Amino acid sequence: MKSVCVYCGSSNGAKPLYAEAARAFGRALVEADLALVYGGGKVGLMGVIADTVMAEGGRAIGVIPELLVNKEVGHNGLTELHVVPDMHQRKKMMADLSDAFVAMPGGAGTLEELFEVFTWAQLGYHQKPVALLNIAGFYDPLIAMLQHTVDEGFMRQTYVDLLQIDADPTALIGKLQHYSPPSTDKWAIKRDAV
Ligand code: AMP
Repeated sequence: MKSVCVYCGSSNGAKPLYAEAARAFGRALVEADLALVYGGGKVGLMGVIADTVMAEGGRAIGVIPELLVNKEVGHNGLTELHVVPDMHQRKKMMADLSDAFVAMPGGAGTLEELFEVFTWAQLGYHQKPVALLNIAGFYDPLIAMLQHTVDEGFMRQTYVDLLQIDADPTALIGKLQHYSPPSTDKWAIKRDAV
């Protein structure tokens, strides 16, 4: 594993602990010799983690769409900044450049990016780990919602279990490094049922 894609808020969140955790995660990535791949902005937790990785002597690769270069303030102090035409290209490039995906706390954009790679894993488009850095229980309501989809018969437990979850950055990186993808085929159960 050489690089980790981190999805995170373009805001700092309501409590200082979110930015503190973003700094801790940035340091843990550098310690593990992993490059950061992220949305390329300077605002919110995105900027905090990128600044930390660069300050610690690590590698940070940003991917930002033209339209957002000014809004999210494209970071000009990164190892690499790729300016791409649109959101689809952004997500594709971030995914192609990364060996694992981690969502830190964030808003709709972060959730959208998380769910895209999570569903791609479920469908077998990639075998890379997908994880939640569950800072201060931020993702507990989402984890409960996913369990509800299993309980109500809309998702298999295997796919919830695919998500790697930890509140501690170093422990989470360890889980990413030891991840092995589930061997089950999402569609087999459906084919069997018809
Ligand atoms: P947010 O979590 O809403 O603060 O957004 C975090 C990041 O997700 C920002 O860099 C947004 O530009 C990005 N984002 C928002 N919507 C999308 C989308 N549909 N596809 C890809 N990235 C998005």
